[in-house]
Order: sequence, then C-alpha cells, then structure tokens
Amino acid sequence: MDIIVLKPGAADEQIRHIIKKLEGLGLTAHLSKGTERTVIGVIGDTSKVTEDTDDGFRAIPGVESVMRILKPFKLASREFKKTPTVIKVGETAIGGRKICVIAGPCSVESKAMMIETAKQVKKAGASFLRGGAFKPRTSPYSFQGLGEEGLKYLEASRQKTGLPIVTELMDPRDIEAVEQYSDIIQIGTRNMQNFRLLLEVGQSRKPVLLKRGLAATIKEWLMSAEYIMSRGNHNVIMCERGIRTFETSTRNTLDLSAVPVLKKLTHLPVIVDPSHGVGVLDHIPAMAKAAVAAGADGLLIEVHPNPEEALSDGEQSLTPEMFKKLMKELAPVAKAVGREI
Ligand code: PEP
Ligand code: MN
Repeated sequence: MDIIVLKPGAADEQIRHIIKKLEGLGLTAHLSKGTERTVIGVIGDTSKVTEDTDDGFRAIPGVESVMRILKPFKLASREFKKTPTVIKVGETAIGGRKICVIAGPCSVESKAMMIETAKQVKKAGASFLRGGAFKPRTSPYSFQGLGEEGLKYLEASRQKTGLPIVTELMDPRDIEAVEQYSDIIQIGTRNMQNFRLLLEVGQSRKPVLLKRGLAATIKEWLMSAEYIMSRGNHNVIMCERGIRTFETSTRNTLDLSAVPVLKKLTHLPVIVDPSHGVGVLDHIPAMAKAAVAAGADGLLIEVHPNPEEALSDGEQSLTPEMFKKLMKELAPVAKAVGREI
C-alpha cells in the first residue's frame, strides 16, 4: 500500500487510528488534506506490506480505497495527485494559467545592478527576480558569489520592486540565510543528487526550484523531487536546463520533450531555463517560445544590465531591452496554447 484515500468527511478519530496503525508497521503517514477529501501518503518501505494488510486497512471505516503506486516516485506522481499543483508565492502562482517568468542576472554583483535589473525586468513583466549569491563555478578561481552580502542585495531589490526572490542554495550550512532572504530556493544542476541537501530543503517551508542534473534521466530527476517531498515539502518546481550530449553548437542540449513527458508523469509545475539550456544568446528567444508552446508553466531567463561586464554567464545574458522584446513575442505564443504571460 502506498496511498490511502479517505471518504469525504472521514472523522479525525479514524485518521488518527490509521496513522497509529501505520506507525505500528514502521511506516510514516503523510496527510494531504484537500478541499474534497483527505489522502494519506504512506512513507517508508512498503514492499513487505502484504495484500492482507492492505485489505485490513480497506476495512477501516472512513477508508475509501487503498492503492499501490507502481512508479518509484510516489508523492510526485500523477497517480498520487491527478490535478496539477499550483504553487502560490505571495500574489503569484506557478502552475496556473499565467506563465511565470523568473528573470535576473546569473550572479548578484552589486546592490545597484540588482535594483536596476529588478526594476527593468519587472517593467517588462517578470514575476520573480533571480540572482545567485552562492555560485557553483567550474573553476575555484572564478567569481564564487557575494554570499550573505548578495542575499541582502536581493532583499533590497525585493523591497524596491516587490518582486519575490529565487536564489540558489549549495550547502546546508547556508540554509537559514537563504531561507530568510528568498521566496524560492533553487537547487542547481550540480546538486540535483546531493541527497542530504535535498532532505534539508524538504524540511523548509519555502518552495524549491529543482534543476535537472547535467546527466540525469527524467526518472532520476523525479526521484530527487521525491526526496524533497518525502520530508513534507510538496512545493517543488521542476526546471529543465539542458543536458550533456555530444552536441557542441550549444552549451547544453535543451530537452524540451521533458516538458510533456513530465506533465504526464507528475502533477508538479514544470519550467524551462533556455539561458543555461542553450547558452548562446541568439537562440534563447526561440527556445523560450518553444518552451511555452510545449506547455511549460514558466521560464527562467538570465538578464544583465551590461552583459559585457558580467562576472558570470555574460555571453548568455539578455540585455533588459532584449528581454522586453522577448516578453512581447511570448504573449501570442502563450495565447495560442491557452495561457497568458
Ligand atoms: C544558474 O542558475 O545560474 C545556474 C548555475 O544554473 P545551473 O545549475 O542550471 O547550471
Ligand atoms: Mn548562470
């Protein structure tokens, strides 16, 4: 048994009884209270639970059905939750009709450039500001980010514009600071399978933007989402950002087929990052439009007020002017697929 669906109006006493019974089997219950009914996700090793035990649970008053989920990811699966998850951050929702756009520089470089970028991307229609304060750089000699000082500049930009903040967490030791200053915690590509870090953000109340690993299959990526969800944080946003292939014309190969594949497998919102996915300025607008056409719930776009001077990823950063143009071009594409931007 993996999921216990309760009848509408099941009594709290019945729910408590089920939880106690599960705990007696060494399992943990995850309660998901919807408007219509309550679902209990069974967490732990359910492989040894027999059909007879399942039948026992079926006999408890208040239980409507007991299901087994065949997928290795359970809480993340469409079988567990049929309706798409909409994640609310303040006034903004991710996974609804509106395509949400997260924009900003690769790295937080100074207070002035962050505020300037925030104002520009907000004017163009972005719903979130991004910027890394802790940067995962290939070389230890490259700019590593401003750390906590950078987080404070993000906070100042939010105060000036009202834009909620997305920023990367690389190390569990920084979780308190990142939680304090951000609205969404980004887990980067290189940490997609850093399981301790995933469990840590699983305990956070902040939504998590989970980027796909450089060489991760969609199943492995969903298992990482499951790690986060297994600790109680169900607000996970899947972000396709390109994978490693033999192709060298682009920085990575943006796997846009991941969007419809994920939409079928999971109820979680799916966004696309064409900036890292393509890494070549000229091709970013085309892939951003393609992502929306493919059904993505949002986009992550790197924007820098002066890409020439950027301390990281300048070659793939749009100027605010280019970003504004892209936002205009995205509107009819969104409309064509029944969305708005
Ligand atoms: C980033 O968003 O700047 C970043 C480092 O992304 P990724 O983890 O996808 O490389
Ligand atoms: Mn970057």
